[in-house]
Amino acid sequence: MLSFACFNKAPWQRRVAAGCLLLLVGGALALARPAQAGEIGASVFAIEARHGNEPASVITELRPIEALARASGGDDLRIFLAAWGYAHAAIDKPAVAEAAIEELTEIGRRTEDAAALASAYTLKACVLQFSGQVRAAFGWIESAVPLAEKVNSPDLSYWVDMTAGDLATLNGQIDEGIRLLEAAAQAARTGRNPRREAQAYQALAPLRIVKGDTASALVESRRVRELASRAGDVALITSGWIMEALASEASHQPDRADHARQQAALTGSVVRPASGVNSQMGGTSWLSTELDTLLTMSTLYLGHRDYPAAREFALRAQRLADLRQDRGTAARALVNQGLAELGAGHVLTGRQLADQGLSTLGNAGRNAEYLIQLNRYATALERAGQAAQALDRLREALLLETDLERRDRHSTVVALQRESSFQQRQRQLEQLQHDNELQAVEISRRKNERALGFLLVVAMAIGIVAAWRLYLRSLDANRRLALNNDALEFASTHDKVTGLLNRRAMEADIASLGGQPYCAVTLSVKQFGLIVGSVGHQLGDTLLCQIATRLDDAATRHDGRLYRIDGVTFAAIYRFGADVPRLHRGLEALTEAMEMPFEIGHQDLMVSIGIGASEYPKDASSHDEVARLAELAKLQAQAEPGNSHVVYDARIGEGQRDKLRMESRMNKALESGDFEVFYQGQRARGGGIKGFEALLRWHDDGKMVSPAHFIPLAEETGLIVRIGAWVLRQSCLQARAWADAGLGAPVVAVNISPRQFNHPEFMTTVRETLAETGVDPAQIELEITEGSVMDDAEASVARLHALRALGLQLAIDDFGTGYASLSYLRRFPLNRLKIDRSFISQLGASEQDDTIVRTVIELAHSLGLSVTAEGVETPAQQNLLDGWGCDIVQGFLHSRPAPAATATMLLVGDRQPALAAA
Ligand code: C2E
Ligand code: CA
Ligand code: CA
Repeated sequence: MLSFACFNKAPWQRRVAAGCLLLLVGGALALARPAQAGEIGASVFAIEARHGNEPASVITELRPIEALARASGGDDLRIFLAAWGYAHAAIDKPAVAEAAIEELTEIGRRTEDAAALASAYTLKACVLQFSGQVRAAFGWIESAVPLAEKVNSPDLSYWVDMTAGDLATLNGQIDEGIRLLEAAAQAARTGRNPRREAQAYQALAPLRIVKGDTASALVESRRVRELASRAGDVALITSGWIMEALASEASHQPDRADHARQQAALTGSVVRPASGVNSQMGGTSWLSTELDTLLTMSTLYLGHRDYPAAREFALRAQRLADLRQDRGTAARALVNQGLAELGAGHVLTGRQLADQGLSTLGNAGRNAEYLIQLNRYATALERAGQAAQALDRLREALLLETDLERRDRHSTVVALQRESSFQQRQRQLEQLQHDNELQAVEISRRKNERALGFLLVVAMAIGIVAAWRLYLRSLDANRRLALNNDALEFASTHDKVTGLLNRRAMEADIASLGGQPYCAVTLSVKQFGLIVGSVGHQLGDTLLCQIATRLDDAATRHDGRLYRIDGVTFAAIYRFGADVPRLHRGLEALTEAMEMPFEIGHQDLMVSIGIGASEYPKDASSHDEVARLAELAKLQAQAEPGNSHVVYDARIGEGQRDKLRMESRMNKALESGDFEVFYQGQRARGGGIKGFEALLRWHDDGKMVSPAHFIPLAEETGLIVRIGAWVLRQSCLQARAWADAGLGAPVVAVNISPRQFNHPEFMTTVRETLAETGVDPAQIELEITEGSVMDDAEASVARLHALRALGLQLAIDDFGTGYASLSYLRRFPLNRLKIDRSFISQLGASEQDDTIVRTVIELAHSLGLSVTAEGVETPAQQNLLDGWGCDIVQGFLHSRPAPAATATMLLVGDRQPALAAA
């Protein structure tokens, strides 16, 4: 059983503990730390302030301080990673940004650091925003806001609120945008950062204009200038004047507008074109020139659905851009005009203009910028009822997105390769240096030997002892040399953490086999992240070493050789082929090695692995292909519980194809209405029907397929997201229909799969479904499994709170089958626990199950949760549960899952006595 003790420790306790450890392990090291915490964060901010709109320069300046940031850790590292990821995202390098996101998330989870998690989510939102996926971005920033509120860091709040404000505005939620940007200004003021405060006001002013509040816009543009002067930022002063010009215009003061424009030209003439823009916000080029501002205004008006104003500003932007011969901006302005026309219902003109703008942009380069415009266009077409065209554009966008991702990955791979070839050169250099030293020692050795000869002669006179000593010294020098060479050789072929051979060694070994048959094995530790989450990183490494030792033993005993590939993945090569029993014995030895618990930091930990194997040349004629097939077999093994191994055979490929076929049938079913929701009654203690669980059914070619068969595949392929949204909608409509028919307010419990729950658009889908169906949210209960929430506990807590805030009820499904404990669940804002059927079926027959169920009910009640028992089939079970105070029972005893009409009859019947009494 894992202990989650480290989750419960207050952050400062852990920091103190870690600090002590650091001092113990290497006091000297700790003292020699390169810089005080905070200094590096401050220099990151300074770099951002200096280079505003030049992400490439930001990266160049950040690079040299990476090592310092890593050595310092904590807030310094968080701030560094956020800036590093952001700047890469801004120059279309999402892969690097994603890596930073992953690292931040990892830090956040490991050290329970809400700031790191908030940064990760905000960065994710920015990455999505940069590719035009504004709605998805909004989902992520929504999770970041409550996390940032928990942390007392004005820097973080500023970034989160600015990004959230920007995204809300782009989403058309101007009031929400204003609220958030005001919060950003407040955060900047608290952090005593006039430049940022100015930027926040600079973002606010256009929203005021859009809302018709020109008086505030004028006040705020003046504040922009005042604050920017205090910060000494000329570019921002210019922006402030531009804003003042627009605000004056909107409030019909042409003279004042002219004056402001002249001032802008005056100050603007001394500004470098690319500087002075808010770097910690969605866009990279932002309100720094009049052209920019006009275009932004038109976009804001589009979001606000004020189409005439949007067109007017887009037209002005286009004219100015033509004048400046800025074809890119002119094209973007054209797209905005098109979108404005579409919004106003002028479909033909709209499409013509947008198409024209897009084609100019596309010709200039099919890049992220083009992708953003495609996504915007598709959304506008959809709104205008042009479904077919919208679909075309979406498809194009999707293709481009995958292509961009591929290109980005490719360039990242190239960069990594370059880095590794750099490392290679470094190694060559070291080798050369080493050779030089070698020669030097050799020369001195010869000298020593010559001296030795001479001295031997002299020794006759001065005694043998001195010469003997010298001779020993020279021997020693030689021996050390040989050792050094060995160490060098060892380092290049071995893994640092476990001491095992590494991937390079494996490749060399395979090459040296020269076409002889062999078995390739790959294996991964399951859920290692979870284990490390519970024991901490240092102990995680210790555990990894122990795992490596046991696996290495097992492999060696069966003529195999073990390698560490990366992270939690190992590989083994067995130097024989076409001997399946022998291979099985080898694989069994590996799984057996994991059967005893590992003792780590006074805890016993159980670890399981999934193993895949394939044979060369039996399964494939190239080494790469054999490795891939082993990987495929491993995936299969990973899906099985506990320790398991799978040897590749053609059926695995076949299984993959079966799944594809089934997936396409499910897709069709969703379109042709072959899914149906059944309802199973839930009875409250004392008798009446309290509600229903919605259970999905599939009528496939006249047969009814059990959800147990297709839900797992839908989950694996991601189709569950769409199916689940459909079930939710159906359930809401049904709940509302029952209420409308005067049948009370039965609660409908809807199953939410892990994939669905963790999808970035989940919150939006829920909110929209509630709004569109008009159901009372108190009538809907979401059933969530432990697995959904345990993967990313921090984010889950935030999300569950958001769901509760909507008025929904929350239940944990299948309680007892996962790995969560009651005390851990306390952190989640739940209403109900559903005890899994497997515990109920043996009630009365198994004393152990009796005790478990009774205790769970008691503990749940003491935590303020109510309890549902699933799978109640006999009156005896019902009696026991009643006696223990179980609140709700569900099972075949009372009702089987049935179509909506049958469920309605049940409700009517249930209410008859009540009606008769009335
Ligand atoms: P679940 O959430 O644990 O649902 C309860 C299952 O227990 C249902 O199986 C129900 O028919 C069955 N059951 C209820 N009472 C009894 C009883 O007294 N005895 C026995 N032997 N079984 C009983 P079903 O409908 O086959 O669904 C299986 C699973 O499929 C569900 O397990 C749930 O995990 C999943 N599922 C069903 N509908 C949906 C859905 O709309 N979305 C998602 N994500 N999963 C769904
Ligand atoms: Ca359920
Ligand atoms: Ca269940």
